[in-house]
Amino acid sequence: MKALRNSLTLQIIVALVMGIIAGIMLHDAQYQYPWISEYIVKGTLGTLGEIFIRLLKLLVVPVVFVSLVNGICALEDVTKLGRIGIKTLGLYILTTALAISVALLASILVQPGVGFEPDTSKTFEVKAPPPLSQVIIDMVPSNIVQSFASGDMLPIIIFSILFGLSMTLVGAKAKPVAEFFASLNEIVIRFVILVMNFAPIGVFALIAQTFATTGAAGLENLAKYFFLVLAVLFFQLLVVYPALLVLLGRLNPFIFIAKMRRPLLFAFSTASSTASIPITLKAVEEDLGVNNSIASFTIPTGATMNMDGTSIMQGCATVFIAQAYQIELSLTQYLMVIFTAVLASIGTAGVPSVGLITLAMVLKQVGLPVDGIAMVMGVDRLLDMVRTAVNITGDAAVTCVVANGEDDGIDMKKFETFS
Ligand code: ASP
Repeated sequence: MKALRNSLTLQIIVALVMGIIAGIMLHDAQYQYPWISEYIVKGTLGTLGEIFIRLLKLLVVPVVFVSLVNGICALEDVTKLGRIGIKTLGLYILTTALAISVALLASILVQPGVGFEPDTSKTFEVKAPPPLSQVIIDMVPSNIVQSFASGDMLPIIIFSILFGLSMTLVGAKAKPVAEFFASLNEIVIRFVILVMNFAPIGVFALIAQTFATTGAAGLENLAKYFFLVLAVLFFQLLVVYPALLVLLGRLNPFIFIAKMRRPLLFAFSTASSTASIPITLKAVEEDLGVNNSIASFTIPTGATMNMDGTSIMQGCATVFIAQAYQIELSLTQYLMVIFTAVLASIGTAGVPSVGLITLAMVLKQVGLPVDGIAMVMGVDRLLDMVRTAVNITGDAAVTCVVANGEDDGIDMKKFETFS
């Protein structure tokens, strides 16, 4: 009991398990008593869950802006930023390409869609994606108030870097502002801790609501696909990232996973990499000991551009749909899937279910019917939760590897100590 009172992580785990149980019970009960769905699921759980998500989202822009400006100011050598940027993006692309390749291979072996009858009554509407040139242009903000207001991560990251660089170039005269940001950073971190205390209630509400609304319908039909995606996601989490940490970073993967438990729980419950940024950043800096000037750049960038878990789902779903529609894919088409899924991962925003929308891009590229998405939609919510957890773990693993390659990038004492 004492352990439960003292450990927030334990409280969140208990909330999660209780949420699953309550959700399953509510799911069955609401058919008999419709008021349960109205007042308990939508009314009470829906409200509490939404408040929790809002509090997390509320933190994202202040955390990213303040932490990044602070981090850039602390860089003694500005050229370091370019090197960190190139290494990080390179590793983000590599891990995503690896994830989708494993997903394709596993799907070809397991054949989840063979013998599956496509349901032609269901359709999936897609909007045409903007051209690549527009995506690149949109990264550069023209009105930062607008970007802050809509929470557009990449423009905010670019503005924060330029702002921090300008402060560094001004030098001594910018010192009061640098001190101001250092102090603001402390305040924002306290704010994150404050919100985290609300997590047990928030997680319980979110999970109970999800399980009450989704239930296990559709799972029997799609069990093969569902468990295949799950298996590849766990492979990425427990084999690929540990291997990356050991081979490229010479870091202990057990410590890494143990210290990522809180962000993992947050990502799983919210199904949003973006809403999890404050918690991931806090764990990577305070528990894993990564320098703020590296993590404040790599974590928000990763939450926006690096979606290994999402690309795993997209790889499995593409093969599943091709098999269900009995369409043979050639080697070139498989390579095309890898290439497009990497791009789709960059273009997927870190919010719930977006991976399904960008899946349309992958399917179109290889000429598969986009309506096929409707077939996998039924079981996507739970997969979304797990893949979001994988997405943020990928960001953190790459961050640790990059940090370990820099002088003072990682405080090994902090990394190895459990508090
Ligand atoms: N929910 C995922 C994330 O936030 C994106 C997705 O795959 O839909 O990382």
